Amino acid sequence: RNSTAEWQAQDLAHHLHPFTDQHALPGHGVRVIARAEGTYLFDSDGRRLLDAFAGLWCVNLGYGRKELAKVAYDQMIELPYYNTFFKTTTPPAAELSKILADITPKGLDRVFYGLSGSDANDTIARMARHYWNLMGKKTKKTIIGRHNGYHGSTMAAASMGGMTYMHAIADLPLPGFVHIQQPYWYGEGGDLSPAEFGRKAAKALEDKILELGPENCAAFVGEPIQGAGGVIIPPETYWPEIQRICKQYDLLVIADEVICGFGRTGYWFASEHFKIEPDFMTLAKGLTSGYLPLSAVMVGKRVADVIAGDKGGEFNHGYTYSGHPVSCAVAIENIRLLREEGLVTRVHNETGPYLAKRLQELKDHPLVGEVRTLGFIGAIELVKDKAKRQFFKPVGEVGTICRDHCFANGLVMRATRDTMLLSPPLLWTAAHVDEFMELTRKALDLTLTDVKK
Ligand code: PLP
Repeated sequence: RNSTAEWQAQDLAHHLHPFTDQHALPGHGVRVIARAEGTYLFDSDGRRLLDAFAGLWCVNLGYGRKELAKVAYDQMIELPYYNTFFKTTTPPAAELSKILADITPKGLDRVFYGLSGSDANDTIARMARHYWNLMGKKTKKTIIGRHNGYHGSTMAAASMGGMTYMHAIADLPLPGFVHIQQPYWYGEGGDLSPAEFGRKAAKALEDKILELGPENCAAFVGEPIQGAGGVIIPPETYWPEIQRICKQYDLLVIADEVICGFGRTGYWFASEHFKIEPDFMTLAKGLTSGYLPLSAVMVGKRVADVIAGDKGGEFNHGYTYSGHPVSCAVAIENIRLLREEGLVTRVHNETGPYLAKRLQELKDHPLVGEVRTLGFIGAIELVKDKAKRQFFKPVGEVGTICRDHCFANGLVMRATRDTMLLSPPLLWTAAHVDEFMELTRKALDLTLTDVKK
């Protein structure tokens, strides 16, 4: 077994990390996460960290679940791989398809598999165009997303997203992808009430459609709650308006539930809470609790009837690992355990409300301007002046300081701009929430001391 220093040296010399300023990596400072159990991570020196981020919004069942490992082992012995191309399926791919059709909202009865949220959204970008072509509406090509939305890193998924720093490195977005305002009331709502602002942010979609011409617009894409953008929970008035506008101008609705799905918000899917009626739903992450890569595009009746109908023809798209039998077997077991242990209901009824209540206590802290949660996804916004809703400049420094204090004190939370994001495993109990609160307050106090310097 290597030492920590050896792993760090190997990594530094050869590993290009996602979303990392490689040049700024310290000579030997990369943390090596070696093991995990329940909701705790252990680094290669044996230090324990409370994971308030479920890996990367994905380890919904928590770490070390032997049931998932056993299912993967058994499936590997039985049939480690076979494709789902050319009129073939496998028992896990078939069974999971039925389960997903049952648990997702009504009408989403067909599923197309991929390996990541990015490739799933790429699939949707192609499938949406294919659909409109089959409908004889070949000009309906543009997909409208939102500033600061995140849908993945492939060329199409990064174009659907509205992260300008991602666009900048590769001359994106591609033609046919545009963006409107995000429903970020705390940051952009000004004097409007949340309800008024929700309507205004939705109206931006109508304005964009009229600017481009409805005959050119294929779909609207949004995360029910923007995750990577800062856990932006839209006002209740937002999604119903979006839904109405899409109906009026005949746009498909894409709900990207890669983060929100599988209980994260206390609902199986956040579309239930926001009353979104998607034509496509993107699933990944919590689908397998991150134990193996798998994504799924749920396709609604309207689109499925056309592309899988008599005029549909071949959908010339797919991945070697579409419907990978081991990933599908793990997803089936993951969903079974989430149900058996009642974790989604518990987040909805007990632990989610408890987390929300405890987080509210942080509003007495001089740095905390707003906290927001739905179930087990949440944000703590750090601001310079809460009375004036004034943010720090330059943006991001204070968030990074706070994140580093969390790490140093045994807590993993992510920072986006100066907002601390949390997304704990669904297995957290009230005791985990209490532990989290203690560590967070400590990190906030240390951050305040630094800010005052
Ligand atoms: N969509 C959303 C909402 C996401 O948060 C992410 C990843 O964080 C993706 C898509 C991309 O998923 P992946 O990283 O599996 O490609």
